[in-house]
Amino acid sequence: MQEKLLMIPGPSPVHPRIIHALSLPTISHVAPEIVDEMKEALANLKKVVFCERGEAFIISGSGTLAMEMALLNTVKAGERILVLSQGFFGERMLKIARCFGIEVEILESRWGRAVLPKEVKDRVSRGKYAAVVSTHVDTATGACAPVRQYAELFRDETIFILDGVCATGGIEEKMDEWGVDVILSAAQKCFGAPPGLALLVLSERAMEKRKSMGPIPAYYGDLLNWLPVMKDPSKYFSTPCVNEIRAFTEATRIVLEEGLEKRFHRHSQTAQAIRTALSALGLSLFTEEPFLADTLSVVKYPEGIEDELFRREFAARGVIVAGGLGETKGTVFRMGHMGNISQSQVYFALEALEATLSSLEYEFHKGAALEAAKSILESKAKN
Ligand code: PMP
Repeated sequence: MQEKLLMIPGPSPVHPRIIHALSLPTISHVAPEIVDEMKEALANLKKVVFCERGEAFIISGSGTLAMEMALLNTVKAGERILVLSQGFFGERMLKIARCFGIEVEILESRWGRAVLPKEVKDRVSRGKYAAVVSTHVDTATGACAPVRQYAELFRDETIFILDGVCATGGIEEKMDEWGVDVILSAAQKCFGAPPGLALLVLSERAMEKRKSMGPIPAYYGDLLNWLPVMKDPSKYFSTPCVNEIRAFTEATRIVLEEGLEKRFHRHSQTAQAIRTALSALGLSLFTEEPFLADTLSVVKYPEGIEDELFRREFAARGVIVAGGLGETKGTVFRMGHMGNISQSQVYFALEALEATLSSLEYEFHKGAALEAAKSILESKAKN
């Protein structure tokens, strides 16, 4: 089978160094090598979210487990939270909260936008919340929320939980400085590791809240059961996926070797290059301009291009993109550009996009996409 370039909004392409780490023989989950790697991964994860104090957790599971654990460990049944929702994953937070008897209010934006800080200010001045929860980048809509501005509005009053699944490691998230109490994330997007790990970083305040709550309706999901293992990974609570942890450790090394500022800048340049290319082809975005996320683009189909056929033809030319989720299904495709995606992979994807559109008899100026992307990536590289 010929390998295809995975440009869905996660999992993102896995770098050969990470694949190599994943493929090493499975070792004991308490072997000294894995203990050291886990310690390194936890320390690196805290660096990525600019957290000096607080606790990091790396647990087998996915982003949804991290969402559930973030809520369960900081909010009790009967307490009230405010969910700031740009769409699909805010709605998921609401459903999770309801499963555990948490009272939820939701402040929603239209899809393609994010809730505005002034709306948040108004709402938090009227209600008292045990936590405010926001998605950083909604993977269905491509919208990035102004989370730093949100945090300023309630940083001393309530716990702020940030869903960074489609942002952490690709877009800046400064936990201590901004006053974020919980960042939840997953391995498979901006870290570029394979799926399989739920990631959480909790501030000291969030940890104190957990400790003050007494028993919670979870066992695997109770961070207090995991805390001793995170402090000393030679201890046992539940068998960790050692191969995946080695892969993730390598992924965090790649992130830090690149340098966080450079990595965030690269994500922003790549997004800009892809968008300039899409626009040169006459394609337009679903997401409204001020909310565009650096990690994915949600692209509207022009008239006459049919979703499934387009994605099949694109895949036949070596590139996999995702269809729309929820209310956008059939009307957009979603292209991820996060993690360790390289300039040559971006060029390959744009050439394949042009070839796909040509095969579907869509009219555009041939070569326009590549030329537009190069004008961004190569002129900036020279500076
Ligand atoms: N939050 C966001 C913003 C996401 O993009 C996703 C996954 N696409 C999730 C949560 C859930 O993560 P997972 O699919 O790993 O459970």
